[in-house]
Amino acid sequence: MNTATYIPESFLDDVKSYIPSHLSINDFVDACQRPLRRSIRVNTLKMSVDDFIQYCSKNNWHIEPIPWCSNGFWLTRSQDEEQNLPIGNTDLHLSGCIYVQEASSMLPPQALINALTTSDCVLDMAAAPGSKTSQLAALMNNQGLLIANELSSSRVKILAANMKRMGVANCALSHFNGTIFGDYMFECFDSILLDAPCSGEGTVRKDENALKNWSIESNIEIAQVQKNLIRSAFLALKPGGTLVYSTCTLTPLENQEVCYALLEEFVNNIEIEPLDRLFPGAEKATTEQGFLHVWPQIYDSEGFFIARFKKLSSVEHSAQKVKKGEFPFSPTPSKLQDNFNAHIKKQFGIQALQGKLMSRDKELWLFPDAIEKVQNKIKYSRLGIQLGTTHKNGVRIEHEFATALGKLATKNTFSMNQQQAQDYFHGKDIRLAQPTTNTHEVILTLCGAPVGLGKWQKNKIKNNLSRDLVSNAQLITWV
Ligand code: SAM
Repeated sequence: MNTATYIPESFLDDVKSYIPSHLSINDFVDACQRPLRRSIRVNTLKMSVDDFIQYCSKNNWHIEPIPWCSNGFWLTRSQDEEQNLPIGNTDLHLSGCIYVQEASSMLPPQALINALTTSDCVLDMAAAPGSKTSQLAALMNNQGLLIANELSSSRVKILAANMKRMGVANCALSHFNGTIFGDYMFECFDSILLDAPCSGEGTVRKDENALKNWSIESNIEIAQVQKNLIRSAFLALKPGGTLVYSTCTLTPLENQEVCYALLEEFVNNIEIEPLDRLFPGAEKATTEQGFLHVWPQIYDSEGFFIARFKKLSSVEHSAQKVKKGEFPFSPTPSKLQDNFNAHIKKQFGIQALQGKLMSRDKELWLFPDAIEKVQNKIKYSRLGIQLGTTHKNGVRIEHEFATALGKLATKNTFSMNQQQAQDYFHGKDIRLAQPTTNTHEVILTLCGAPVGLGKWQKNKIKNNLSRDLVSNAQLITWV
């Protein structure tokens, strides 16, 4: 019980005005004061759930499946281990095999799961730090195109680092106010997730001070931002497409009311897709409109709200805008493509890459095929993955090539133990027991997953981790 959790009376008075009659306010307060259970999601781009289960049994990690996400687990480790090895420093986390993610926060991408199977182009409109972006990328199996947008520049950097760690290869990052998408990318997306900025009332179990600045006035202010964002998202959605709106707050002002404003404006073009069958037991949190209103006491989680809509038909929108300026990439000349493909085949046994090789000055990039239709619509902060940089004797391979594509390698890989991995992430070289005659690059793996690039050099593997990732350890161990 955390009695230091700050829960102002004015907030409780407000909650009493909308808590459903079958739930009790006392249970709500009790749940808010209970520590949150740790949960993680297995990143299936890097590790299978079966391998994860085996790892847990070997390491005495106790796990319990989360009913709405087949890759999600509540995780308990011994007190000793919790104290001595923060979860962010474990090999599973460093390798990108797991993402520490609150259980209820796995619900919004799950609500899109059926729509994703036919989605070429998906938007995550408010994406940082990227828990749901990486979940979406895994659900898409790195296929199609996932545009992840974030307004805050410092958070875009964290988002980018997380996508690298998780081996996401089908993503483009953008850095805009989400309200621009309706105008610049009108009816471009098959599916959209708007995990909106909100007052965070559902997060008190993680952050005892989450309600320090709570006021109805700030709820009303944020609700206006949310209404503008959801409208933009709906405009950016293709007819027939699916939109999921979510928040980690409880007030109807930022949840139901935001949805009603959208339903009212586009009354002839939209329908709610009820979520009562999303998973066994979903009905316990389903509102009469078909939204999920997850109170912390229902599933012993954080509070969350999720709504799902279908766009039935195209809408009028005269304010569409066109970006100015040239797309700064061009298709990589075929000779360079051939050289690069020959190099990765010889060095790593990689036969063929899916996607389009593109160049910008000396940089060599791999773009998802689906980018073609939308590449000129907005400016991207980062698009696809950087494979390498060309120089007069060939191509210098980049770290991201290894994290995103290393699993395709059939040779020149090196499996690090936990100590070697700690050294590697601190920028140190890896000493070899036996000197090697190999030269060139080697893909470093941890727990079977590719985590970076090194270079064989006699009795060591030289560390090629870029200095910004070494010096900014938080970007690697972010949880
Ligand atoms: N989806 C993220 C995840 O699962 O990791 C969490 C997103 S958080 C709830 C909301 C994000 O929206 C914040 O990172 C915030 O900086 C960003 N944001 C705030 N206002 C925005 C706007 N107008 N357009 C786009 N993003 C915005």
